[in-house]
Amino acid sequence: MRGTILFILVNFLLSAAAQAAGHGVVLQYHHVSERTPAATSVSPAVFERQMLFLRDNGFTVWPLSRLVEHLLQDKPVPDGTVAITFDDAYTDVRDQAAPLLQRLKFPFTLFVATDFVDKRQKGYLSWDDVRQLKKQGAELAGHTLGHPHLLRRLPGEDETAWLARVRHEIDTAEARVQQQTGDHLRLFAYPYGEADETLITKVKEWGYIGFGQQSGAVNKALLQGGMAPRFPFNVAYSDMTEFQHKVSSLPLPMPTENAEPIVWDRAARPRLELALADQVKELNCFVTGQGRAQVQKKPGGLFAVQAEKNIGVGRSRYNCTSPVAAVDARDFSLKLKPRFYWYSHQWIRRNDDGSWYPEP
Ligand SMILES: [Zn+2]
Repeated sequence: MRGTILFILVNFLLSAAAQAAGHGVVLQYHHVSERTPAATSVSPAVFERQMLFLRDNGFTVWPLSRLVEHLLQDKPVPDGTVAITFDDAYTDVRDQAAPLLQRLKFPFTLFVATDFVDKRQKGYLSWDDVRQLKKQGAELAGHTLGHPHLLRRLPGEDETAWLARVRHEIDTAEARVQQQTGDHLRLFAYPYGEADETLITKVKEWGYIGFGQQSGAVNKALLQGGMAPRFPFNVAYSDMTEFQHKVSSLPLPMPTENAEPIVWDRAARPRLELALADQVKELNCFVTGQGRAQVQKKPGGLFAVQAEKNIGVGRSRYNCTSPVAAVDARDFSLKLKPRFYWYSHQWIRRNDDGSWYPEP
């Protein structure tokens, strides 16, 4: 009996320690340029400021594959570990980002939509460029062949045919990356950060660690969830205080989550219920385009989150943060203050007739 109690206690302490150790933050960029669309670009000056901030404030920059491996295998991860990722393989990554990253010895990960590289499409890297970047510290991963909206079925396509097509997009791109670079990491970034429960389940089944574009720090459970968070950066998200809060954020200590379906065909205020550990006393949530969400704290550490108004057509997020109490922050080596637990959940609302919204 005493043995059992000791075992439970040790397990509890171990999981508390794992909770403290096992986290990281993944940054997502597209373009580093002043001449590309604001929604997918940061300027070279802002990018440099952000990278120097990491260098000067005790952060550790790892390749994403290393962060994933350490989190999944419960190996130690230093507090303040960050992975830098770029989607789509644009030439400005080679011209604007890579020289700085190489100088700082920061590794990075490129998610490549391989058709654009194969077709030598204007603005995209060539395979020679990609291999050169690999020599400079990049690793390569898949982002489908042709960057489709994976949830959008073709006319007359049933679920089986849809999943076969999606799997072909993902597996063939992974094979292409491997042929051209030798990298076969089984990391996958969903185009547009779009997925539903079925797709997320399949991507896991097919052996990939999926990444979305919803904000938040990452841990083992979120990697295993099938659509791990990344913080997207663009012109609208260039503020340095905000950058500091994001890169120093921690995953919400969240034993369970209960969410309504991701995809809606009608007006909806989806409900999200999070069961959170004791140290989370308050939760502040915002809804895309709306401002604050209603957050109801119930007994047992349950927080119910719901938008005040219907979510808009397109992609929306409930973006939730909670300040880390000073006494809890002392457990971490990074000395930046204040720190936040950070988590977000994505919803997708189609047009009311079930058709898909145009991509802006
Ligand atoms: Zn993309």
